Amino acid sequence: MPDDAYADSPEDEQTGSAAPCSGLVLVSTPIGNLGDIPPRARQALAASDLILCEDTRHSARLLSAIGIGVRTEPLHEHNEDARIAPILSMLRAGRRIALVSDAGTPLVSDPGYRLVRAVIAEGLPISAIPGPNAAVMALVLSGLPPQPFLFLGFPPPRSAARRAAFGTLRAAERAGLSATLIWHEAPHRLAETLVDMEAAFGPRAAAVARELTKHFEEVRRGTLTALASHYATQAPRGEITVLVGPPEQDDQEDLDGALTRALATHSVKDAAALVSAATGLPRKLVYARALELGR
Ligand code: SAM
Repeated sequence: MPDDAYADSPEDEQTGSAAPCSGLVLVSTPIGNLGDIPPRARQALAASDLILCEDTRHSARLLSAIGIGVRTEPLHEHNEDARIAPILSMLRAGRRIALVSDAGTPLVSDPGYRLVRAVIAEGLPISAIPGPNAAVMALVLSGLPPQPFLFLGFPPPRSAARRAAFGTLRAAERAGLSATLIWHEAPHRLAETLVDMEAAFGPRAAAVARELTKHFEEVRRGTLTALASHYATQAPRGEITVLVGPPEQDDQEDLDGALTRALATHSVKDAAALVSAATGLPRKLVYARALELGR
């Protein structure tokens, strides 16, 4: 059989070369369990000339555990802009540079987006090694609809801004958004965030995923009311991802019903104004939905 007999087979695609010849490679790393370092991630890191780390001391533990001694440099929120030009020069010179964050997939609630945008704008090579991601792992364990989902990063830390953010999402739901919502949250803020979520979204299905891939991994599922009540007395520890299921069908029908009735006797603009005043929903959102229904 010739050497290249399987060159175009699916197997060949699945086991193809791990490391790109040059360019930037975004490498996902474990979210708590060192056993989760993908083999291609290890290969790509070992083949790099430089590893950019959100925190070099944090990544040193991982790199030493997997026997990688490649030079590291920090790339974090505060130096990312200043580092872009020298990194682009190195990439133009054909260097292989890996980017890792403290945990999981770089860029997702982590540094790197501005660098990636610059690399793409310059037309330089870029690739990624997929791997652990807390939001997706929490989603698939939550028992909530897996798609569509909307990942929102961390909610605002202060209650007023958080309530406003949840209110905007609730208004978007009334205007038609129907997705499982996902946030990161700090353990010391979880209880108050769940209270604000329940105020905005009501007693709907939700989940709290904690310490995923670690010894105390736990996914608590229930209504927002039950979860808020549980965490009001049980201070959680560790890393936390919170998920809220999509609205019940009735929510959307409420807005659609009110708009349909108003549209029977009013112009789109007037119907939107009337329903906006009656529901307290932003006029722009109601108008957009009225236009859709009007069509
Ligand atoms: N880039 C990471 C990823 O792809 O998952 C996320 C980084 S973000 C700065 C860190 C947050 O992710 C934590 O505060 C927590 O909300 C969530 N997280 C990280 N590891 C987790 C884990 N093992 N279990 C649950 N949530 C986790």
